[in-house]
Amino acid sequence: MLLYIHVPFCRSKCRYCAFYSEPIGGGLLDEASERMQLWMDNVVLEMAQWGDRLGRPPVRTVFFGGGTPSLLPPSIIGGILNRAARCFRLDGAAEISMEANPESISRATAGQYLREGVNRVSLGAQSLDDTELAMLGRGHCAADVTRAVYALRDAHFHNIGLDLIWGLPGQTSRRWKKQLKEVARLRPEHLSCYGLTLEEGTPMRELCESGALLPLPDEREAARMYVQGAELLEELGYLQYEISNFARMGYLCRHNMGYWEGEDYLGLGPSATSTIGGRRWTNPANIGRWARQVKRHATGADAEKLDLTDRVLELIMLRLRTARGLRVKAYRELTGRDFLRDHKPLVHALHRHGLVRIKDGYLRLTRNGMLVSNSILERFFDASREALRAGEAAGTCRTDEGGGVSPSVPGAACGPEEAE
Ligand code: SF4
Repeated sequence: MLLYIHVPFCRSKCRYCAFYSEPIGGGLLDEASERMQLWMDNVVLEMAQWGDRLGRPPVRTVFFGGGTPSLLPPSIIGGILNRAARCFRLDGAAEISMEANPESISRATAGQYLREGVNRVSLGAQSLDDTELAMLGRGHCAADVTRAVYALRDAHFHNIGLDLIWGLPGQTSRRWKKQLKEVARLRPEHLSCYGLTLEEGTPMRELCESGALLPLPDEREAARMYVQGAELLEELGYLQYEISNFARMGYLCRHNMGYWEGEDYLGLGPSATSTIGGRRWTNPANIGRWARQVKRHATGADAEKLDLTDRVLELIMLRLRTARGLRVKAYRELTGRDFLRDHKPLVHALHRHGLVRIKDGYLRLTRNGMLVSNSILERFFDASREALRAGEAAGTCRTDEGGGVSPSVPGAACGPEEAE
């Protein structure tokens, strides 16, 4: 099982961010902070509850995400990891990742996080251009990124990832590639490069729509940024293993790979999602409501059972994100049907246009296919839904009970649903 812990605190809200987090301003978040104490108490309580309900399952990765987990003192991260080792069978070689913002990492704290058990840091750099960072509303400058990477290296972190955003207003493919070269000089083991999305209700979206910012790159320029950027990263020694993720050999993020490969994951903390035994639930995106739910032992009470169609669409969506692609036999194992027969016209058309490839029993998106992955996935979804409907009508499709999914999450129905 994969374990995700959502830390819902940030210094301030970035302009593009739609994640759930509470801005705490400039002060240091310490153990005395009331909100943090509430979060801490309940995250360990929630962990203990799920450890019991699931029978202390093995855990092979832990991911502290947020929010800004690096706002937590290292001792708190260490305390939570100790508790995780008691509630679950935590693999001695587990990947323990922590998201961090560059301005909150110093040489001293980096060493402490390492000693407390964190062995992988994902640094929210987003850009190495101060103008872009200001536009995004980030609380750091480019020099902070370099300082944080050196601090982590000096502390003997051997697995450092940087998160970047491309497709910013006014950005060109030339500038993006120049930035990638600068980033590569820092020698991170891992790079996540996400295209900017203008989420509903974010200041960034309003600024773009009002014309207050330079226009976003047009479709052709965005395509150049994606394809040429990925080619450049490969030349620089980074293997693309997912639509937005690149890593040096041996440094794929095991937590995210597990997620894309459909492993069970338990999410703790407000707004965290879990999927266990074919059931999915999401905690309330509010510390108070989530804490009340934890106190009533009711997280997961509103879990939904994923039906066959949900599981098939998810299989296609998650596997096609990866460079390895979808093992077509996995579709048969789930549905009893033949993937290539069910999607024949679509696969032929995509293949003809160089958007997918089939090799050794795997169907994968090419880089151009990854560029338009959303519309390709929509077409696969439509074709799958149609094939499953036809299969059900003809009785040639495996039923919902046939997918090898365990029937329920113990304790998932142990309390009334939280009133929203
Ligand atoms: S630091 Fe991350 S989670 Fe926090 S506001 Fe910025 S983007 Fe959102």
